[in-house]
Amino acid sequence: MAKIPINLVTGSLQQDEMIVGIDLGTTNSLVAIIHPETKKPVVLKEHDESSMVPSVIYFDEYGNPIVGTAAKAYLEIAPERTIFSAKRLMGKTYSDLGNTSLFSYKIIDDNTDSLVKVKVDNTFYSPVELSSFILKELKLRAEHILKTPVTKAVITVPAYFNDAQRQATRDAGKLAGIDVLRIVNEPTAASLAYGLGVGKSDQVQTIAVYDLGGGTFDISILRIVDGVFEVLSTHGDTYLGGDDFDKCIVQHWAGQNNISNEELSGNTLLAQGLRLRAETAKKYLSEADVYEDSFNQSSLILTKNEFEDLIEPLVSKTIDCCNRALKDAGIKKEEIDNIVMVGGSTRVPLVKHRVGDYFGKTVNDSVDPDEVVALGAAIQADILAGNNKEVLLLDVTPLSLGIETAGGLMDVLIPRNSKIPSKASRQYTTQVDGQSGMRISVYQGERDLVKDNRKLAEFNLTQIPGMPAGLPKVEVGFLINADGILTVTANELRSGVAQQIEVKPQYGLTDEQVEKMLLDSITHAKEDIATRALTEARTEGEQLLKTTENFLQKNTSLIHQEELLQTAAAMQALQLAITMEDKNLIQQKIEALNDISRPYAERIMDAAISTAMSGKKI
Ligand code: AMP
Repeated sequence: MAKIPINLVTGSLQQDEMIVGIDLGTTNSLVAIIHPETKKPVVLKEHDESSMVPSVIYFDEYGNPIVGTAAKAYLEIAPERTIFSAKRLMGKTYSDLGNTSLFSYKIIDDNTDSLVKVKVDNTFYSPVELSSFILKELKLRAEHILKTPVTKAVITVPAYFNDAQRQATRDAGKLAGIDVLRIVNEPTAASLAYGLGVGKSDQVQTIAVYDLGGGTFDISILRIVDGVFEVLSTHGDTYLGGDDFDKCIVQHWAGQNNISNEELSGNTLLAQGLRLRAETAKKYLSEADVYEDSFNQSSLILTKNEFEDLIEPLVSKTIDCCNRALKDAGIKKEEIDNIVMVGGSTRVPLVKHRVGDYFGKTVNDSVDPDEVVALGAAIQADILAGNNKEVLLLDVTPLSLGIETAGGLMDVLIPRNSKIPSKASRQYTTQVDGQSGMRISVYQGERDLVKDNRKLAEFNLTQIPGMPAGLPKVEVGFLINADGILTVTANELRSGVAQQIEVKPQYGLTDEQVEKMLLDSITHAKEDIATRALTEARTEGEQLLKTTENFLQKNTSLIHQEELLQTAAAMQALQLAITMEDKNLIQQKIEALNDISRPYAERIMDAAISTAMSGKKI
């Protein structure tokens, strides 16, 4: 790596190629690097600006995305076109989300198992696209500060993120023009920032990472053996954080000043004014004993003791989660060697004390809790760049491995850069009634369509007993052993029919070819994702047409004539849209058909349930 002077105050730095660490947060995101001279991790910031970029996207009237602080201003004035917490949507279906009333923008309920989409005007955005807008902004900012292209990164995700959510994060990176070298767990990154797991040590260490942010709480129990981090358990509350502390204070002041709940919910300016002052008071009380202010003829006084009484039940809730996480991990709190504090809300002294008292140890809080994850990601990036020889680098897969799914799409089972040996499995099903065979085509590469990747093998799983479409459960398993040999198995779980094949993924591939395949995936990311979105919309549309047709056939007598006519027209419109090249149009027609069929489908289901229940005591 070239040695170039860096001036972080003015934010100018030049360097050949830089691998950055990115903390892609629910509320804020940050980028960090290893300082080329001090060799210490630092977050990137421009002049006196904050290092934190709000993870908020505002779409202007032309559909242009605006990201960060400028977008945050629109949360109040244009809530339906300002997207926050996109991370909460990653890799989720509508039914996974549960309560969607917490989102002020439109999330599509398309009655299917497909991943959620957000609608602004007439455009549909996937959470991958939304996250890619944030990553693109981070990339641009980093390039501006570093004065060099930024194309490689390590991105952090919560430890509980599943395979689909991790893949979605990788895709978002690719779409933003970033080669995601590694997805790292946030608690692992935070531990790295404290030097835990870095340096050769045979000692087994057990770590509790306590992460209390603005809106979420996570506790993770990790174990480090020979420099390898293993997540033993995670727990938390996806709706508990510093924002709830602010709400407690607002309620307290409202009570003291005789402000009713109706007045608060009806007067946005008043509510907003109080909330902002509550946050200021909370932060002030991390250092002082009394906060005093006045607003709108209300006197706002809060002592540290009062504040601690207010938030005590919330802090207790986090301690309960710690208890459960330890139980799940099967370890006692005395066995925890280190406690790492992450998230802005761990600055509250009561939080530190309660956590320290619970574990019976002093907590690690010397690194800025807002920056700690990004700093750890930068350390991981440095390890991958080969600059940190202290850490054991494990053998990894150079390219992703997956199988072909509907529409010629690549479904990745083992992402590139996974540690070897590695194992993954996923369930698939049939698309046609009575389908007795399934072709398993194995591919290697980073592109979204299998036709652009390298085919490794193909085999047929036959003799699946006749079942309705969607009922068979075919589990496809990938196992790469320590020698890099891939074994692919397919197993229909209901009948037990199975088949397997062995391949050598690296066979005949030079380093240059691997490099070219990676580069191609970045250059073509935009069109690849567009094609994938179109194919997915088409498959979703076709499935909806099939289900609607089946439903109509079985229930014709229970549906009104007008409903039938409207449904037929909507089906025709969807059919036509599927033949065109516009995924937004297909989504619109899917939504329209759902809007028509949902009321009678619900009516018929309710009637069926009440018939089934009649005469039975509940
Ligand atoms: P994060 O999601 O990790 O960025 O955490 C943001 C949360 O930390 C917000 O609720 C902030 O109000 C809170 N926070 C930031 N600084 C402080 C502080 N000094 N004392 C208490 N809470 C803070």
